[in-house]
Amino acid sequence: MSSILPQNHAITSSQRVLSGTSDKIGTIQKRYSQQLKTNISRQFPLFARVYCVSSSTTTKTPPLTEPLILQPQPANYEPPTPINKTSTNTATATSSTRNVLNDPSLQSTWAHRAWMASGCTTVLISLAKSATGAIDSQMWAGPIVAGCIGYVLSDLASGIYHWGIDNYGSAKTPVFGSQIDAFQGHHKWPWTITRREFANNLHALARAVTFSVLPIDLLCNNSVVLGFVGVFSGCIMFSQQFHSWAHGTKSKLPPLVVALQDAGILVSRSQHAAHHRPPYNNNYCIVSGAWNEYLDRSKVFELLEMIFFFKFGVRPRSWSEPDSEWTEENETQSLPASN
Ligand SMILES: [Zn+2]
Ligand SMILES: [Zn+2]
Repeated sequence: MSSILPQNHAITSSQRVLSGTSDKIGTIQKRYSQQLKTNISRQFPLFARVYCVSSSTTTKTPPLTEPLILQPQPANYEPPTPINKTSTNTATATSSTRNVLNDPSLQSTWAHRAWMASGCTTVLISLAKSATGAIDSQMWAGPIVAGCIGYVLSDLASGIYHWGIDNYGSAKTPVFGSQIDAFQGHHKWPWTITRREFANNLHALARAVTFSVLPIDLLCNNSVVLGFVGVFSGCIMFSQQFHSWAHGTKSKLPPLVVALQDAGILVSRSQHAAHHRPPYNNNYCIVSGAWNEYLDRSKVFELLEMIFFFKFGVRPRSWSEPDSEWTEENETQSLPASN
């Protein structure tokens, strides 16, 4: 305290005088302090303002509630590497994606190939019997028109079926459970369909075609009916292949497939890409995609969803908020290690 006093300041030993001196010292200190503040604020006005702003955004580290205990470390001790949260997430996603791509469930088995052979044979029997009937009767127009109608309606049927399994049921649903589960998985990892082997991708539909169409082949001899059934069931069976091509990269697809997609004969890549974007409730058709615009514009599926809800109290999945269990993971974020 005495260090701030002038050197020639007189101090007596009297308590009263000392007390009075203390008051003076206090007064000098106050004046000195005020003068110092004034000078600082005049000379560094910006400094004071910056100090206030920075103090308002500083976060305090919470005090330690437990005492730090330092333990002796062994000679070969290595401190833990700091964890980068982003890189950890990417690494986890990469690992997850690599597991999906190396999943043996994407490969064809001999059972898958057998079902494909069975399905293709069934469709060919329909078409062959229809053609034979047309040759015998010299009536080609009927079977050809019926085949065209089969192609057009197969797109509508693929959309209705896709809408149904996207929105209702679960993996535990009888008969359709595995298809529902597969389509939910497809929404999470859409690009894996292009890695799925041909027979693996189509065998379920080939089996359905075998069971439903083979009896018609054996019992029916009408060339018009068989023309319709052959084309319709063939398009349904191969719809998963058309779907896979819709997920392909243009430069990697066969030129003929790209030409058919561009002509609207097969579902286009851009149209199906919209199905995998919010709001996840449109472009369900996967043969030609010809019905998508009409169905989405007329809100047919939304009307059916309302009817199902008010009649049975069942909410479709598309009404729920996007769920990380079925919305798409970013391939580019997690794929590089597998390519
Ligand atoms: Zn879908
Ligand atoms: Zn898809």
